[in-house]
Amino acid sequence: MKIQNGAQYMESLRKLHPRIFYKGERIKDVTRHPATAPHVRAAAMTYALASKKKYQDLATAVSHLTGHTISRFTHVHQNMEDLIKKIKLLRLLGQKTGTCFQRCVGHDGINATYSVAYEIDQKYGTDYFERFKKWLIYIQDENLMVVGAMTDPKGDRSKSPAEQVDPDQYVHIVERREDGVVIRGAKIHMTGGVNSHEILLMPTTAMDEKSRDYALVCAVPVDAPGVTMIFGRQASDERRDRKERIDVGKPKFGAVGGEAVIAFEDVFVPKERVFMDGETEFAGSLVYRFAAHHRANYGACKTGLIDVLIGAVGYLAQVQGTSKGSHVREKITEMSHLSETLYSSSIACSAEGWPTPSGAYMVDTMLANVCKQNVTRFHFEIARLAVDLAGGFIATLPSQYDLKSEDVGHLVRKYFSGVAGIPPEERIKLARLIETMTGGTTLVESMHGAGSPQAQRIMIYRESNIEKKMKLAKALLGIPQKKRASKKN
Ligand code: SF4
Ligand code: FE
Repeated sequence: MKIQNGAQYMESLRKLHPRIFYKGERIKDVTRHPATAPHVRAAAMTYALASKKKYQDLATAVSHLTGHTISRFTHVHQNMEDLIKKIKLLRLLGQKTGTCFQRCVGHDGINATYSVAYEIDQKYGTDYFERFKKWLIYIQDENLMVVGAMTDPKGDRSKSPAEQVDPDQYVHIVERREDGVVIRGAKIHMTGGVNSHEILLMPTTAMDEKSRDYALVCAVPVDAPGVTMIFGRQASDERRDRKERIDVGKPKFGAVGGEAVIAFEDVFVPKERVFMDGETEFAGSLVYRFAAHHRANYGACKTGLIDVLIGAVGYLAQVQGTSKGSHVREKITEMSHLSETLYSSSIACSAEGWPTPSGAYMVDTMLANVCKQNVTRFHFEIARLAVDLAGGFIATLPSQYDLKSEDVGHLVRKYFSGVAGIPPEERIKLARLIETMTGGTTLVESMHGAGSPQAQRIMIYRESNIEKKMKLAKALLGIPQKKRASKKN
């Protein structure tokens, strides 16, 4: 692995020159800009853990392509154990950062593309799989961060990609050349996009025959000519100013992942970086596999950061002298119960993993969708309990500037202290941490990241196998299984 640790990862980003805008201005260095640096530090943790012996079993893997030791985030799952190790790694990273560390999106894109490229080649005799393996070996050996780019803006949702009034609402091929393709369009909600090295573009939905130019998978460097990123605003992002160390809540890491719009304005992609071009019937399974891998993650990364939240609430209860209350214990128990239920489904869908024809392992798709669906409910309930236990002062707390003021600092300290012997600063810091972990952008991400709840419900219904279940009921009641001929009126 060329990039060996977090510092080298940041150094590698400084060598790139992506076109990134935030609040109308260009960001020159994402590792130092206050809006992006917290997210860079969270992603850097994926590199840092891989450099520590203690964590190497989870954070690294052996490449089945080269035999080299690689980051797990560039690995193609070879068995059930790989799937489970990823889940454990995500929880650990959630605990270390208390936020989204972003690198899983590219990892899931790599795994989905690997298996689908193989299957396209089997059907059409194309060479996408060989191209993809070459690109992947480059990613593994350099240890690069990849942003998995799936979601298109979608324009009029009642129309298919090819039917849009504005054809750029979905990324598409505008020109096919001998040596590659030229693409146009945009991807939105791109977690970790501004601090990745490479973009792996995938279709966002199943495609009809007319949408051939939209059935595209390819890889583009973040600073390729024609690529522009616009970094999104998040709740309280002004507090990321370096001076706001207490009020920001998490002094080192971002509230959530750090998302961007990535626009592609006639970007040339060489042939060897194209892994699907027009095979519309494979777009659906690629989306489905990517989504299932990513939905499996949510019961792990979120559980990691909920561990931090439960810890913050538990310690705040001590600081406030309420920790012995039976209702406090009861609510902390409920938070843990919900959180561990999420984790159980991440483990379960990995334990029920299965090999695709390429050899790459997939999670159980039903259980992965159930896992993410539960996150859209339980994380909200856990946040509600955290806010309940913390108390109303997290909404009315004076700023850190008042805390440090010569005029009123003594009053803030006096009236925001808790049990004797614990500095009031600790209570204030805990309040800000809980505020940021239960606030706007964090919960929106839990609801819609890896697909909105309705997307999971569609999949859950599709995989419910109602026919089989009806047969079970009939068998139990002795009702004949044969189809009855329908009577004509
Ligand atoms: Fe990874 Fe979770 Fe962030 Fe998705 S939300 S990129 S799974 S940490
Ligand atoms: Fe996410």
